[in-house]
Amino acid sequence: MAATCEPNQNPWLSHSVRIAGITREIPGVLTLDLEFEDSARAATWAFRPGQFTMLYVPGVGESAISISGDAADTGRIRQTIRDAGNVTHSLTGLPIGATIGLRGPFGSSWPVDECRGRDVILVAGGIGLAPLRPVIYHMLHHRQQYQELTLIVGARDPALLLYPGEFEHWRTQGLNIIPTVDHADESWRGGVGVVTTVLERLWLRSPAETMLMTCGPEVMMWYTMQTALGRGIPAGSLFLSMERNMNCAIALCGHCQFGPYFLCREGPVFRFEQLRSILRIDDL
Ligand SMILES: Cc1cc2nc3c(=O)[nH]c(=O)nc-3n(C[C@H](O)[C@H](O)[C@H](O)COP(=O)(O)OP(=O)(O)OC[C@H]3O[C@@H](n4cnc5c(N)ncnc54)[C@H](O)[C@@H]3O)c2cc1C
Repeated sequence: MAATCEPNQNPWLSHSVRIAGITREIPGVLTLDLEFEDSARAATWAFRPGQFTMLYVPGVGESAISISGDAADTGRIRQTIRDAGNVTHSLTGLPIGATIGLRGPFGSSWPVDECRGRDVILVAGGIGLAPLRPVIYHMLHHRQQYQELTLIVGARDPALLLYPGEFEHWRTQGLNIIPTVDHADESWRGGVGVVTTVLERLWLRSPAETMLMTCGPEVMMWYTMQTALGRGIPAGSLFLSMERNMNCAIALCGHCQFGPYFLCREGPVFRFEQLRSILRIDDL
């Protein structure tokens, strides 16, 4: 699963990409459609669900951003960005046609091959759905290879659910979607409560044959893991995606060191067993 960059790519080299499209998702969050200016680089571009790139705004800096698009869509790279600070603020303020730099893809990926023949539960909190969206695309393209597919997606309120415009299409393709919010409004017809409440009550065909992947705030992922273990899903079948401040993305600078791991190289996707003893709920 772990990888630093494609073997034939210089991981330091930032390639110029043009913003070909902008989708405003929820307040403070948008998705950029990026296209390589160099057609030779475009022709070799490939990524695995769960990987990330380093996006570079000249004169401002670089940020790690997950790839949120479809790996089968070879013409463009989609990345969903939350305006959190210097670099992400610049990235979310650029117009269509602007060019930025892109390095990567980097990091480990979600276990889509290991999930074949099993039931799969995805648990996303807020913008945590972005790194999981490529898994959804992949599994729906290969729907017959998987058993029950369920997405539990949580947000603070209905207006903060990411990608709701895709839900209906995903449902018709065979994804069971259970959205839940902390605070409902009068128009809301879904559940109210945290994602773990949904997971506690979810019908499981065979816990031993179920794989679960989660991305969101660390405290949410921690309780999701505890709930999944309580439901009988084996620890070895639980995966999560971690975030830390990241700088070089190739395991040299040490900024993203987490216990014995560099998040940029062994992560961001980990099997829960790898992190169980070092992910401390007291620190969350
Ligand atoms: C593997 C990986 C994938 C990511 N994917 C996405 C994504 O798909 N979309 C997205 O919007 N963001 C993503 N992030 C987070 C993103 O990299 C940071 O929000 C961004 O780098 C912050 O940089 P900035 O210059 O905008 O903010 P700064 O001005 O540097 O920081 C703003 C605040 O955010 C904190 N911060 C910076 N980086 C992180 C981080 N990685 N985790 C938590 N807090 C941080 C800082 O300490 C500071 O408090 C990802 C991070 C990693 C490591």
